[in-house]
Amino acid sequence: MKSAARAAAALPRPYSRLFSRSDKKRRVVLVPNLSRSFSTMASAVFRSLGYRSVPLPLADQQAQHLGKRFVHNDACFPAQINIGECLRFLSTGAAAPGEVALALAKNCEDCRAGQYFALARKALDDAGYPEVAILTTGADRKHIHPGFSSGLRYQLRMLWGMAVTDALDAMVRATRPYELTPGCADLAYEEHLDKISRALEHGAKKACAALGDAVRAFNDVPADRSRKRPRVLVTGEILMNYHETANRQLVRYLEKNGMEVLLPDIVTFFRRQVIVDKDMARRGLARRPVTKRMVAEALDGAYRHVVGKVELIYKHFRFYEPRPAVSELAASVAGFVDTAIMAGEGWLIPAEIMHYARKGVTSFVIIQPFGCLPNQITGRGIIKPLKERFPHINILALDYDYDVSMANLENRLQMLVMAAKQFT
Ligand code: SF4
Repeated sequence: MKSAARAAAALPRPYSRLFSRSDKKRRVVLVPNLSRSFSTMASAVFRSLGYRSVPLPLADQQAQHLGKRFVHNDACFPAQINIGECLRFLSTGAAAPGEVALALAKNCEDCRAGQYFALARKALDDAGYPEVAILTTGADRKHIHPGFSSGLRYQLRMLWGMAVTDALDAMVRATRPYELTPGCADLAYEEHLDKISRALEHGAKKACAALGDAVRAFNDVPADRSRKRPRVLVTGEILMNYHETANRQLVRYLEKNGMEVLLPDIVTFFRRQVIVDKDMARRGLARRPVTKRMVAEALDGAYRHVVGKVELIYKHFRFYEPRPAVSELAASVAGFVDTAIMAGEGWLIPAEIMHYARKGVTSFVIIQPFGCLPNQITGRGIIKPLKERFPHINILALDYDYDVSMANLENRLQMLVMAAKQFT
């Protein structure tokens, strides 16, 4: 026993490069993409807290190739995408490895999303960049980033940022299919994503004012919604939902084929934890239930306040439609999926499908990385019982990995598009 402990002690530290306090001023924090607006916003949040930070470019073919090469082939495609984005950036010589740190999400302890930092460390070391530090947005149990903590200030600013960029993303998706001059909605999006992220560096009030400007700009984009297109909800694994190059430009493909695309809000994904914590505490399924419930109540209050304030601004958008509240979504899966199932997107996938099916949407695409067990269960696995409840809807499940191209997906997507057009 003692010799095993001695042997373990003799091993080199797995995380020898730490993100220290002095790195806050020295290193540039690289933020990979969940969506473009998310990484642009998250990078602005880092800057507002005194860090130097830039968003990474969206993964191109080379980034995906590097991700596949240096992250184990069996690991999640989203990990390959985000780590590949960092490797690609470093391969261009745009920054010295000793002067950057990679920021990675760590938000699901039950599946591999909680372990991306370990995959990234190995990939960076193997690719010849051991000097790059890593920081994560979750609990730092391995003590790899003493110079960063995702404390209350960070979380609140991220919450404002997510709520504002969710509204911006919803506006471009509601306007682009109906614009009279191609490219106008994208132009408004680019201009106001930049303005919102710069405003966010100066606080939530400025970000809200910038969102107000964006609403007015989108209201001025010439558009004709007199003939509504069939709508399709794209839902599934969070990165695959929003990451344009990872999902092979799925949203634009569906728009080009005459559809209007709906996506869930990113803020909903994070708020779900609070709802579940409250429920688990109430059912006695959590440790220290009283404390857990009090913390969850306080966090839920913060979510309510921020989302409510942003909604007041977003309501002035001419094509405004209220988005479903998380508590409403959780209630809708009662007796269908237990809300304690949180791995991956958990019960959110069936909840969102049921919500929009009740609102008259008949087409749904569930997208997930190939081999993503949690979302295979609450994604593909719930299609049959959902179809029993809503026999008139079409649900298409698509699996993605490095080798998937739009040509592989097109036949199945075309069947969905044709069926949707028959119903309108
Ligand atoms: S949800 Fe799926 S793809 Fe995402 S980290 Fe978990 S296992 Fe991987």
